[in-house]
Amino acid sequence: MRAVDIIIKKRDGMELSREEIEFFIQGYVSGEIPDYQASALLMAIYYKGMNSRETADLTMAMVRSGDAVDLSAIPGVKVDKHSTGGVGDTVSLVAAPLAAACKVPIAKMSGRGLGHTGGTLDKLESIPGFRIDLSMTEFIETVKNVGLSVIGQTARLVPADKLLYSLRDVTGTVDSLPLIASSVMSKKIAAGADAILLDVKTGNGAFMETEEKAFALAREMVDIGAKVGRRTTALVTDMSQPLGMAVGNALEVKEAIDLLANRSEGPLREVSLLLAAYMVYTGGKAASVNEGREMVEEALISGRGLEVLKRMITLHGGNAEVINDPGLLPGARIILPVKAEQSGFIASINAKKIGHSALLLGAGRTVKEDPIDYGVGLVMQKRLGEWVEKGETLADFYINNEDNCQDAIKVFREAIAIGNEKPAARSLVYGAVTEEEIERF
Ligand code: URA
Ligand code: CA
Repeated sequence: MRAVDIIIKKRDGMELSREEIEFFIQGYVSGEIPDYQASALLMAIYYKGMNSRETADLTMAMVRSGDAVDLSAIPGVKVDKHSTGGVGDTVSLVAAPLAAACKVPIAKMSGRGLGHTGGTLDKLESIPGFRIDLSMTEFIETVKNVGLSVIGQTARLVPADKLLYSLRDVTGTVDSLPLIASSVMSKKIAAGADAILLDVKTGNGAFMETEEKAFALAREMVDIGAKVGRRTTALVTDMSQPLGMAVGNALEVKEAIDLLANRSEGPLREVSLLLAAYMVYTGGKAASVNEGREMVEEALISGRGLEVLKRMITLHGGNAEVINDPGLLPGARIILPVKAEQSGFIASINAKKIGHSALLLGAGRTVKEDPIDYGVGLVMQKRLGEWVEKGETLADFYINNEDNCQDAIKVFREAIAIGNEKPAARSLVYGAVTEEEIERF
């Protein structure tokens, strides 16, 4: 087999065999196939696409490039949850403890935030002492003990994705459905869960800006799961404004704690309960999503979800007192209200820019190596469609370093449009994609 023949075949719009895909991925990871040939194949895939069989074969070839995690020591159906990335997307911190409180074991490998989106690992690391680098044995023991553990992805988890993603980033081939779907699913499959719940975000703060593209990606990923025997469900949810009110690591942890303590309401609570309900249903602990919903609501109201989070923090070496006293989380020196310069309805909120504004304050990173300031960020005081008076607070900024704060405020103001007309209300959840059907809510 020669790499060039495989490139030509895809360039001409033909279907690649499993062996050809395997040969290419193995050759690329071992260094025998150079970046320029891999780039050419990626571009051919970008233009000609892949059918679902090819995409599943690509996914499994990527999984085989590294070491898959073996979770068989944990009894029951292990469920993993993955979000395609959002702003103020604190769902994992709320939904995972709730599902775990309903006896669904959750062994999750999470990623760090990059660009305008936050990452669950960074949020957890804002808790003093919290370790994300548990050994595999500690990871499995923690799941067995409390039902939930979240750690960082190991270096040997899908090395093919690390290489391909860097190459896609610099060759204009990130935005391809089969390449995104195989990238996400290879990591989820290698991480060992039996069932996978995907939260595919759509809207101006998401990777897939339109609903149609989000459903297409959801379909693609659910198909991969079906082909390789991992039950996969995807929800398509809204990211046309930050989901929670807080954007920033410790601020989001505090928001999650408040929700799990049943002290607050709103869209983050709604979406988290729905995701958790699907996790419980997918994990086989409820006969229907509705029953799952009742179970997770009970776990929230009774405080059992919060208890799971607390015990997980302790087993990860973190200071679980943050649950009772969020003041123990890293904070900010200055809290600055940013006020509306005119009256009107909040006509639109550009979630990507809100994420960018928090990043400028130090809450995120532009390159992998950037340090982050866990205490900073912003807390929205208004949501899409609300009326605001001139001089009323739009958001509170949590600031430690005043150098970038004017830039952050400028970007924030650009993100918020105030107008005379109340915008149409948007759904929080657009639908669910399962192996059997696409259901629009
Ligand atoms: N997230 C991933 O993990 N991979 C992609 O290709 C895009 C988003
Ligand atoms: Ca619709």
